[in-house]
Amino acid sequence: MKQITITQPKLVTDFSCVGGSCREHCCQGWAITLDKASVRRYQNSKDNAIRHLAQQSIKVTKKSHAAWGEIIFSDGNKNCPFMNSERLCSIHSSLGGDALSDTCATFPRLKRIYKSEIEKGINLSCPEASRLLIADPYAMTMDSTIELHNGFNKAEKASVQTKIIGLFCLNILNIDTLSVEENLYGIVKFLLFAEKLERIDEHFDQLEAVYHVIASDLLNGKIKNELAGVNQNYNLKSAVIFLMQNFFKAKSASRGALVLLEFIKTMDRLFELFADDKKSSAQMAKIETGWQDNAGNMLACHHYAFHNLVKYKFWQSAFPLGNGKNLFSNLYLIVSEFYFIKTLLAGRLYEKGRVTEDDVIDAIYSFHSLTQHNTQTSAQFHQYIESVKFGDDLSLIQLLV
Ligand code: SF4
Repeated sequence: MKQITITQPKLVTDFSCVGGSCREHCCQGWAITLDKASVRRYQNSKDNAIRHLAQQSIKVTKKSHAAWGEIIFSDGNKNCPFMNSERLCSIHSSLGGDALSDTCATFPRLKRIYKSEIEKGINLSCPEASRLLIADPYAMTMDSTIELHNGFNKAEKASVQTKIIGLFCLNILNIDTLSVEENLYGIVKFLLFAEKLERIDEHFDQLEAVYHVIASDLLNGKIKNELAGVNQNYNLKSAVIFLMQNFFKAKSASRGALVLLEFIKTMDRLFELFADDKKSSAQMAKIETGWQDNAGNMLACHHYAFHNLVKYKFWQSAFPLGNGKNLFSNLYLIVSEFYFIKTLLAGRLYEKGRVTEDDVIDAIYSFHSLTQHNTQTSAQFHQYIESVKFGDDLSLIQLLV
C-alpha cells in the first residue's frame, strides 16, 4: 500500500451544499456537459419521467467521452430541466447520488492530483463556498490526512521548488496585519529575492532568513510605511477597472452575471456622478477615498475576509505554478482579481453607505461564476487581464496602495 497525503483548506472540509436554499443555484444559466455513461443512463432510464426529460433536454454532442452531451436549459428561467419544483435535482431524488454525472457529482469540489499527494479545493462560484470563506476566520487553515491507496497516482510528483515558494507565500499571508495589501507587498519582496536563486531547494536557509525579516517588518509597521511611500497610479487603476468591466458586460447571459452587473452598474453611476472631474483617474481617486475613509466598519467585523480570499487564490492557483507563466505574472493575476473585487465593494459602500456580508459573498461568487466556470473561461479571462498591465508585472504594486 502507498501513502497519499490529502490536503485541503478547512472550508473544503466544512462544505455542504445548501440545495434549495442556495441564493443562485449552480443548475441555472450555465453550460453543463455530461459524460457518455450519464447520457446513456438517463436516456435509457427505467424511470419514465427521467427518460422522457433526458430525450428532450440533452443535446448529444459526442465531443469526447467526458463531454458526450449538453443540458438544454429552459429559455424562461434558465433552470436545468432536471431541477424539480423544490429546486432539487430530480436525478438525485429518483435515481440516487451515484447516478449523477461527473460534473454534477463533483461541483463545486476541485482536485489537484500529484503522484503521492492530492490537494483539494472548491469553486468560489458556489455562494455557500464563498460564505464559508469569509464567515469563518479559520476557513483557510489547512487540514491534512494520510490515506492508504493500492498504488501511487498516475501523475507527476509535486515540484519541490514550487511547494517551497507556495508555502512561504502562504506563511507571509498568515501574518496578522490589518490590510492584506501589506502581506502582498511582503510577498513581492520575498519573490524578488527568490527569483534570483537558481535552485530554491539548495538555498532554504537564505529564504527562511528573508522570510523572518519580512515577517518582522510586517509586524513592526516598516512594510506599511514603505507601501505608503509608493506613488498612486489612478490611471492604471481605472484602466484595470474599465477593462475588466468590459469583459463582464460581454458575458451578461451567464450564471452570476445579473449579480455582478449590479455592482458594475453602481461603478458606472459613480463615474457619471463624478463626471465633472473629467479624468477617470480623478473619479477613481474619489471612489477609493470613500473606501479608505469608511471601509473600517466592514473590515472590523471581517478583517480576515480579504486575507482569506487572497490565501484562497494562492491555494487554488497552486501559486507560483499556474498557467505556465512566470512568478510575477501569476501574482499580477491574483492582485488584479482581488483589486477588482475590492473596488466593486468600494463602489457599493460609496453608493449605499455600507457593505454587508451578503454584498461580499455576492461579489466573490458572481465574479468567480464568470471567470472560473471552466478552464476555457479562466484562460480567456487571464489573457484579457494580460492586456491591462502594460507589459509591467511589477505595476501590481500600484494596485496595493
Ligand atoms: S451553487 Fe453550491 S450551494 Fe448552491 S446548489 Fe450548487 S453546490 Fe449547492
